[in-house]
Amino acid sequence: MTEKIVFLDLEDTVIDTFADGNLVRTAAVRRFLAQERPQRVALFSYALWDERDRRNCERRLVPGLQESLGVALDLTISPTIDDLRRIVERTRRMAAGSLSQQDFFDWFGRKEEGFIQFARFGPGFEGQTLVLLDDMVPEMELRMPASDLIVRTVPVQSL
Ligand SMILES: [Mg+2]
Repeated sequence: MTEKIVFLDLEDTVIDTFADGNLVRTAAVRRFLAQERPQRVALFSYALWDERDRRNCERRLVPGLQESLGVALDLTISPTIDDLRRIVERTRRMAAGSLSQQDFFDWFGRKEEGFIQFARFGPGFEGQTLVLLDDMVPEMELRMPASDLIVRTVPVQSL
């Protein structure tokens, strides 16, 4: 069965800043999730640089987000920048660790570009619909028959 996964950006989408972690736009995002009815909800945030950030997020932010949005967040498919760099390195047959964080942002600084890479080359999303809700993306839908994927990006401002 085709599965739909909604990925939520963090800063300026569901919280103010990673440091402060105050929830924002809760009602609108909750409505959006109720409309979309995804099988899974995860995070796709450039505020998560590494494993330490992910653990920090899991401890400090995830309980409040889950409670206020009424969904479970799947952190196992929520990539950090380090995960995304590894995906790109593998895809381009680069040596591990050779893509710096700066290189990553030069290539994939636009959120929709990073998300498309992740959808295509990340962990086994074939046949699925991946939706990114983010404050920095255009309204877009991409059908990628070769990877049997549908990728949508939704600007949170449009909710
Ligand atoms: Mg943001």
